[in-house]
Amino acid sequence: MCGTSDERLLCKEGVNGMIIPQTPIAVDHWKMTPMSPARVFFLSHMHEDHMKGLTPTWRHKIHCSPLTKRLLIDKFQFDPSQVVELEPGEDHLVSVTDSETSSFRMTVSVIDAAHCPGSVMFIFQGYFGKIFYTGDFRFSSEIMDNLPANYTTDVDVLYLDNTFCSPNCVFPTRAAATEEIIKAIEQSSDAAKILIGVRNLGKETLLMEIAKRFQCWIQVTERRLEMINLLNLPNYFQTGSESRIEAVPMDQIKSSYMKNHPEMMAILPTALYIEHPHAFTACKNISLVPYSDHSSYAELHEFVAMVRPRKVVPIVGEKSRGVFGGSVCHRADMSCFDRYCDKSPGVQIEIPDNVRNVMKRGLDHSSRLNRFKFKRNLQQMNPRRQRPKKMVFDAATPEKNQSDCTVAIATPASPSSKLNCSVIVDRCWVHQKCRLNAPKTKLTKYSVIKSNKFIRQTPIPQTEL
Ligand SMILES: [Zn+2]
Ligand SMILES: [Zn+2]
Repeated sequence: MCGTSDERLLCKEGVNGMIIPQTPIAVDHWKMTPMSPARVFFLSHMHEDHMKGLTPTWRHKIHCSPLTKRLLIDKFQFDPSQVVELEPGEDHLVSVTDSETSSFRMTVSVIDAAHCPGSVMFIFQGYFGKIFYTGDFRFSSEIMDNLPANYTTDVDVLYLDNTFCSPNCVFPTRAAATEEIIKAIEQSSDAAKILIGVRNLGKETLLMEIAKRFQCWIQVTERRLEMINLLNLPNYFQTGSESRIEAVPMDQIKSSYMKNHPEMMAILPTALYIEHPHAFTACKNISLVPYSDHSSYAELHEFVAMVRPRKVVPIVGEKSRGVFGGSVCHRADMSCFDRYCDKSPGVQIEIPDNVRNVMKRGLDHSSRLNRFKFKRNLQQMNPRRQRPKKMVFDAATPEKNQSDCTVAIATPASPSSKLNCSVIVDRCWVHQKCRLNAPKTKLTKYSVIKSNKFIRQTPIPQTEL
């Protein structure tokens, strides 16, 4: 069964996280608005598309795996007391309202997602029933073996990593893809420099396997070595001195670059181009191998058939774009899983009053600053309040005998632009007679402040505009 359009809209382009409807739970969702009901925050793993909006200025507690906690603290300077570690393979009691004293708690089971170091899946159980949130994951039979001892099916909603949910997404296991990569390196000239395109985090197992097979160091960037040291991995990596095999950022491998370096061979271990098999065929020294940290279409079917949820909701929204900017909305169609879904009626969700109050309360009202921001944001969201209130002259002091002066009318900032004050330049107000049409323009908030001495508090009568 497909997720409702509301649920899909929560998953905006480029942001693979969401607030679970009728709960204060947010997973990989860090965009707070004044009316947001989110109060308890979970981070599935440290990939960029799951962290948009998360900065060290974040004020709420973050729940994640111990490894992710270590990376958050060391790489992003988060305060350790702000990050709550949840050990994989265990059940945890977490307050639904993010308050230590709250009696409304849910059980959170944490399972290794086999996607990248520190990545986990969550099973939430509480007044809302049972929710299984996969985050990004690569299915294998071991994943099901790692489920908590008290795990039963009876999942109400499965939030699924649908990155490759298309019948075209057929690719081998990571072990088979590793062999393919080893073979490609073996077939290259001994003198060839091998570049392997990877993201900042992930595919360490592949790199270590290559190092073992070829008995050589893997050259990495300083930044990546710092990350590897935090992961406590065996010593297969080095910076500085030249090594035959080098792990480079994925976007460094481009046809234009590789054509000019025939002495090199590049390997892109990714399934991102699975629906574009001819993406790099024009460039002989780039080898595309579908080594994937996400589940294939067949694996997704196997997984959903085992979980038997009542409903499946895609994590990657239909507005997301593929590698060449093309639409991948077909991958958000979950109707292909209908046949596995449990048709029995699920729980009727009744939100406890305390939880409802906390969800309604809006953002933390403890400081005057927050109250001010809350009120200002509310005003920005309410178009009825966006009437001209002040006037700002965009030129120097208007002179009465000047016939071509222009008048700018400041309106409250629009919801989409918090910093810029939307300003419309209209007809001359000082010289009613001239009625000149000035060109429309926009002034920044700075311009308004600079011209403050010209602000008049009296609203301009609508008839004069
Ligand atoms: Zn990921
Ligand atoms: Zn992702």
